[in-house]
Amino acid sequence: MSSDTVVMKFGGTSVADAERIRSAAKRIVAKREAGQRVVVVLSARGKETDRLIADAYEISERPAPREMDMLLSTGERVSCALAAMAINDLGHEAISLTGSQAGIVTDTSHTKARILDVRADRIVEALDQDRIVLVAGFQGVSTAKDVTTLGRGGSDTTAVALAAAVEADVCEIYTDVPGVFTSDPRIEPHARKIDVVSYEEMLEMSASGAGVLQLRSVEYARNHGVRIHCRSSFDPGDGTWVVPESEAAAAQQSQEQSVENPLITAVTHSTVEARVTLIGVPDTPGAAGKIAGALADARVNVDMIIQNEPPQDDTPADMSFTVPRDDAQAAEEALAPVVAELGIKALRTDPDMGKVSVIGAGMRTHPGVAAKVFRVLGEEGINIEMISTSPIKISCVVARDRVPDAVRALHGAFGLTGEDTIRPEEPFGQFT
Ligand code: ASP
Ligand code: MG
Repeated sequence: MSSDTVVMKFGGTSVADAERIRSAAKRIVAKREAGQRVVVVLSARGKETDRLIADAYEISERPAPREMDMLLSTGERVSCALAAMAINDLGHEAISLTGSQAGIVTDTSHTKARILDVRADRIVEALDQDRIVLVAGFQGVSTAKDVTTLGRGGSDTTAVALAAAVEADVCEIYTDVPGVFTSDPRIEPHARKIDVVSYEEMLEMSASGAGVLQLRSVEYARNHGVRIHCRSSFDPGDGTWVVPESEAAAAQQSQEQSVENPLITAVTHSTVEARVTLIGVPDTPGAAGKIAGALADARVNVDMIIQNEPPQDDTPADMSFTVPRDDAQAAEEALAPVVAELGIKALRTDPDMGKVSVIGAGMRTHPGVAAKVFRVLGEEGINIEMISTSPIKISCVVARDRVPDAVRALHGAFGLTGEDTIRPEEPFGQFT
């Protein structure tokens, strides 16, 4: 495949109305006229996916996942057909394809499917015929020949997977924000746009609440070496590059002069956590396995887990873990039989938890970051309820209503504060 191919992905706000579709079409056509072969991935328009989900729950309390995918996949198809029309009107030949037509093969786990293979021959054929190819994001066809979707935000993953399959130079993610930020500027007005970030840092950011790129898309990009350029659909400036660590480190080094303390790359947060605590778990081999197994079977995503050491042998232990708030009820239901079986004394759920995380590759070689995080939160009078770390991330679970204070305090303490501020009236979505 020739090396002058680019994948351009436009998010929901970038195709929300006719005017925006026309302006995306102009940007797409400009790339083609500059001599590049262009594959475009589109999301559903505006809040269309939310609307379709609401439609489903209006009809049924438990919509069948297979039918849910049939329904949700339509949003992206609408965007593609309309954009193809707009491109045709500009004098270029466009062809829109569903995920299935585009050769995106997934496993059978409806509403959260994983891409197994991309058979891009039809895309390549259309590119060879000098067409602009539009692919409906967020969907594929399963090995059982059913329509599947890739989880919320999944169009990013479609774009990265296609970029890998056609060996594109870059996967451009066009969005309603100028790039990835050091923090969410709606909380921290002094947040700065990040110029370059490594796959590893971006993975931690996406996993800890940054909504700008779907976690799986970053994972896929890292595994296949796809360079991502996350940028604004409304202005032409450079956004944020997500690249291999060696490249990111070199770029961050040259930035060091202008930024006082580059140890930390970003402060992310989440306000959608719930904590489940099991009190009186028998201190016997296999108990944790039963608990985690029940949650895994119910497809509840457990984030942090803490188990304390009981005061004496043979006395029961306590165990806490966090789950997305929307999954808290499913977690309780899944655990009910295990609670009975193991004779666990009580199950408590606290739905109002949040999480703040500091992320930076520099942490690997600099001790003392955790101490500073805890001290800064302590000085703010913010109680840390749970802690988890990775080599490049420290996360603290705190009360949900203290999350904004925690973000601002850490952002300032680690010297991330910049001069560029964002005007709050701008229609921005996800920054970090
Ligand atoms: N339309 C889907 C969603 O809202 C996929 C995407 O936009 O990436 O989650
Ligand atoms: Mg998105």
